[in-house]
Amino acid sequence: MPPLTHFYPSEIGTSIERLKELGYTADHLGKPLESTDQLVEMKHQDVILNNAGAEFVLRVSKFIDTLLVKYYKLDPFYKASAKEDLVGHCVVTLSPHTSTGFVGRIIGYEDVNVGLAHPYLISARRRNCDGDEDTTILMMDALINFSKHYLPTTIGGTMDAPLILAANIKPEEVDDEVWNMETDTEYTKEFYDKTMQHVPPGEVKVGMVESRLKSEAAYSGLEFTHGTSAEALKDAPKRSAYTTLKTMQDKIDMQFSLSDKLYSIDRADAAKRLILSHFIPDLMGNLHSFSKQTFRCVSCNAKYRRVPLIGKCTKCSGKLVLTISKGGIEKYLNTAINLSERYKLEPYIRQRIMLLKQEIETVFGAVGAAGDIPTKQFNLANFM
Ligand SMILES: [Zn+2]
Repeated sequence: MPPLTHFYPSEIGTSIERLKELGYTADHLGKPLESTDQLVEMKHQDVILNNAGAEFVLRVSKFIDTLLVKYYKLDPFYKASAKEDLVGHCVVTLSPHTSTGFVGRIIGYEDVNVGLAHPYLISARRRNCDGDEDTTILMMDALINFSKHYLPTTIGGTMDAPLILAANIKPEEVDDEVWNMETDTEYTKEFYDKTMQHVPPGEVKVGMVESRLKSEAAYSGLEFTHGTSAEALKDAPKRSAYTTLKTMQDKIDMQFSLSDKLYSIDRADAAKRLILSHFIPDLMGNLHSFSKQTFRCVSCNAKYRRVPLIGKCTKCSGKLVLTISKGGIEKYLNTAINLSERYKLEPYIRQRIMLLKQEIETVFGAVGAAGDIPTKQFNLANFM
C-alpha cells in the first residue's frame, strides 16, 4: 500500500454528501467542502481501495451476510449491492509476516492497482512506502471467521493472522520513520543556504511530524511543498513493473537500463551495493545451507535430516527431494557476474564472485557450461 496524505474527491468516486457524513466537512485549507475538485486531507485511519479489489471485497461481504443469515441465524450486516455501499465500513489491514491487524475505514476507490493509506497506518504496520504487499479484510470477516483452530501448526503459522487488533493508531507509537515526514508548505532561505554548506540533515530546521507528536497537530494540518493535479492518480502507472516483469534478471535489466539514463545515479556504486548486500550473501548462504539441508517427501511433506537407507519416505514410500536445489543456489550468479563486468567493478568484488563460482562448481560442476544439466531441482538419484 503506497501512502497518501491528501486526495481529491473526484479521484475516489465518493460523493461530497457521503464524504461529509464520514467527517470530511472541509478541504485542506479549512474551506467548506462543496466541490469534488477541492483537495482534502486524509484522516489517518482511512483507506482507499482499488476497483478490482473492491469487486472482490463486495463478493466477500455477500458471503459474510449469507453466513450470518444461514449459519448464525442473524440479520445480514453489509447488505451491499455495489462497492459504494461498503464506503464507511471498517476493515482490518495486516502486513505480511506480522500478527497485528489495524483497523481502517474505506472511503473510496480508484483505478490504480494498489490500496492507498495514510503514512501513519502504513508505518504502524511496520511497512515503509516501497509498495510492499498488504491485505485488507472486512472487519466482520476478521471477527466471525477468526479461530486459532485454523492456524497452521508449523513455525510462522501465527504470522499473517490478526492475533492482535489495534483500533487506535497514535503516531507517537508507530515506527519512527514516519516522524521524519515533512509538514511545511515551503523551504526557508536558511534551508537553501545550508544545502550550499553541505551540513548534516539534522542541522537544518524543517517542520516534521516529530515536532507535532502527542498533540492534535499530529493529526491534521500536515502540509506539503509541491501538490499534484486531480488527474495524478488517473495518469499514474496502473500496475507496478515489479509484478509484470517475470524474472529477477528482467527486473535488474530494467532497473539498470533506467539508471543508465539518470545522471544522478552512480551506476557502478548501485551495482556494487546490490552485489554486496544481496547477491553475495544470498549465494554464500544458500551454498552453505546446501550441505546441511534436510530432505522432503514430495507426497506427505515429511522432513528428514538424513535420507533413510531405504531411499524413500518411511511413512508413505514417497519420493524424497532436496529442500535446497542447485538452481536456488546459483540463481543470481550469472546476474552478479554480468553486472560486475558491465560496470567494471573493482577486482576485489569480481574476485569474490569468481571464488564463489569456483566453490559452486566444486559442488555441482561447471555453471552454465555446454551440456550442463538445466538449472532445476535435482532428484535424489543424481547423488546416489
Ligand atoms: Zn511421505
